[in-house]
Amino acid sequence: MNAGQLKEAFFSRFGGEARVFRAPGRVNLIGEHTDYNDGFVLPAAIGFATNVAAAGRNDRKIRAASLNFAGEYEFDLDQPNASILPGWARYVQGVGTILEREGFRLGGADLLINSDIPIGAGLSSSAALEVAVGFALTRIVGAEIDGMKLAQVGQRAEHEFAGVRSGIMDQFASVFGRDENALFLDCRSLDWSAVPVSSRFLICNTKTKHELADGEYNRRRAECERAAAFFGKTSLRDVSIEDFERSRSQMPVIEQKRARHILYENRRVLDSVQALRVGDIASFARQIDASHESLRDDFQISCRELDVMVEAARRQPGVLAARMTGGGFGGCAIALLEDDVSLDLPDAIAMEYKEETGIEPEFYECRIGGGVRELQDRRRDIIKS
Ligand code: ADP
Ligand code: MG
Repeated sequence: MNAGQLKEAFFSRFGGEARVFRAPGRVNLIGEHTDYNDGFVLPAAIGFATNVAAAGRNDRKIRAASLNFAGEYEFDLDQPNASILPGWARYVQGVGTILEREGFRLGGADLLINSDIPIGAGLSSSAALEVAVGFALTRIVGAEIDGMKLAQVGQRAEHEFAGVRSGIMDQFASVFGRDENALFLDCRSLDWSAVPVSSRFLICNTKTKHELADGEYNRRRAECERAAAFFGKTSLRDVSIEDFERSRSQMPVIEQKRARHILYENRRVLDSVQALRVGDIASFARQIDASHESLRDDFQISCRELDVMVEAARRQPGVLAARMTGGGFGGCAIALLEDDVSLDLPDAIAMEYKEETGIEPEFYECRIGGGVRELQDRRRDIIKS
């Protein structure tokens, strides 16, 4: 559905003219679970996105509906302590509430949401929703919001309203995405730079999401804090690989494994950025493969479906490397491709995956796209020409 069609759907539901704001999903090329450890990540925004049609109201009520989910929900900006709305609406309420708390004076709004991001697949439909809504709510009152602030508001909504203590990566990528560039972010300083990527990637959706995902996510976070505390630090960012190797034999086994993943994953991100900058795809591929092994064996957040998918992908000609991507316990894997890979590649992976798991997977060859923006109405141009 394009922006014009979403505006028409908005008109039928709420009446009136809306503006449309678009925020993309993301795929993480490398640097998994390093964001909340003050480490390095290398995500890229993808071509799938969430659009929000928005129009201001004269009161302070936010009314929201989604074409992807049932229900229409409403909350009042003047009641910031109201109970949390059910289901998906909590993300909208979270963003509105936190923007106000941050000092943005919003107005009421009607919002109609529509997304083509596979939802719950680890491509961050939740961050795209938060970023699109935050951008829409500020823009329709004429307020400017700093990009990093917008990402942080989304992250806080995820913490406080969805109960997932995620890092900044997903919202950051949705805000700052750039065509044909990955985004190298230092999650401690928030310094970042764009890294041109000409490689092709295939996103391989296992179509599985194990229930424990959110609980294990928060548990990993606590385990990493304990691992840092072993070194007398609050963050694994302050622990060097040398320190770790010197004393790891004294660490409890869980903390040791978690720390090893985070410390070496940070190095893999740095090595990947270096490799991409000099066009050394073979080295980038080695980092990707090693990342999967580490997530599976040390961080222990893979699952059978992800392992089967990664191995099936790696067996195909034209696939240079593959790893799970995202939070883990399901969702997507990503395969790095040779330039002239066969069109049958998804079918070949699907056949092996389905045979071993009984699940029909999905594949997306996604271009790396731009970040959040308002979609301009092209209807006027069409009338002119
Ligand atoms: P992911 O971010 O990997 O897609 P999450 O479980 O973090 O998975 O977020 C998915 C949730 O975000 C959905 O269950 C829903 O509550 C909310 N959400 C995402 N996209 C939309 C949308 N287009 N409309 C309404 N809610 C959405
Ligand atoms: Mg999410």
